[in-house]
Amino acid sequence: MKKHNYSAGPCILPQEVFEEASKSILNFNESGLSILEISHRSKDFVAVMEEARALVLELLNLEGKGYQALFLQGGASLEFLMVPYNLMKTNGKAAYLDTGTWASGAIKEAKAFGETVIVASSKDANYNYIPKDYSIPTDADYFHCTSNNTIFGTQMKSFPNTTIPVVCDMSSDIFSRSLDFSKFDLIYAGAQKNMGPAGTTLVVVKEEILGKTGRAIPNILNYEQHIAKESMYNTPAVFAVYTSLLTLKWLKKLGGISAIEKINEAKANLLYTEIDRNPLFKGTVLKEDRSAMNATFLLENQDHQELFDSMWKKAGISGINGHRSVGGYRASMYNALPLDSVQVLVDVMKELEKNS
Ligand SMILES: *Cc1c(COP(=O)(O)O)cnc(C)c1O
Repeated sequence: MKKHNYSAGPCILPQEVFEEASKSILNFNESGLSILEISHRSKDFVAVMEEARALVLELLNLEGKGYQALFLQGGASLEFLMVPYNLMKTNGKAAYLDTGTWASGAIKEAKAFGETVIVASSKDANYNYIPKDYSIPTDADYFHCTSNNTIFGTQMKSFPNTTIPVVCDMSSDIFSRSLDFSKFDLIYAGAQKNMGPAGTTLVVVKEEILGKTGRAIPNILNYEQHIAKESMYNTPAVFAVYTSLLTLKWLKKLGGISAIEKINEAKANLLYTEIDRNPLFKGTVLKEDRSAMNATFLLENQDHQELFDSMWKKAGISGINGHRSVGGYRASMYNALPLDSVQVLVDVMKELEKNS
């Protein structure tokens, strides 16, 4: 039986995507070949790459606005490095907002390239809120933020206005909510949280911000090279890109980002309402900063843990143990998780209250 999969990443994808992807492993496009055994230069795969890149821009409403979509490798973690490599001028500086483990990982890499200004941090409170009143130096080469903090369960609900380029790690909430994506100059996201299987990383970049550092950049780390080669500088992650395309097509058929946003809001409301109502549970982050993607919560009383754990397991729920740095529970409600799965978790929480 299919589990209710709350895994934080890699994570659930739409069931029909699993089905179609598995068919393509045996016979891709009725070609008599598997998607796993064809050349990335074949006509069929070049078409997949082109369609995926175009569909990303279409869904983000960035067509014809000077942006390029790339499917790279190395994960979001490699983007921590590629961003300063490609955007920080020699002897330049960059501004970072520190909202958690991933943001601080990005800061660490940037420090190797130049002055790194941390405009604000919520580290003092174990990252349980998003800092709001801070100023961004206008002489920095770019401002970097993390839209959704997968581990701590916070999400930026608004983004600062600034005249410098804005870079955002959207690994865990890309394609989940409507934003004016043209406010960002570079967006990156590991595929494995909301777009596809692990193995590819989406980068959406406004071309005009590139080529200004005065530094020699190795080809494999150079966004301009990847753009010139149409995201085929070297062998791309063929299967991960193909499966990401299936997920993007699923999203488009559903009505795009504005449609999934409503469903995501309904799921988050359902779970957070129960966390707040049920006296046995409490949330871990400031309410106004709660993530619609990753809900973190604790039991008020650890004595209930054994019973609760056995109850959700019996209900077919998987993957809600919290990250080791926070403890408790984390329910990741990415695009493909159905509202029904959230109802199952909420029912278990209500049942626990009755039984204790
Ligand atoms: C998971 C995650 C990362 C790391 O992604 P990798 O692809 O494993 O390098 C970075 N940032 C955020 C916000 C994440 O959720």
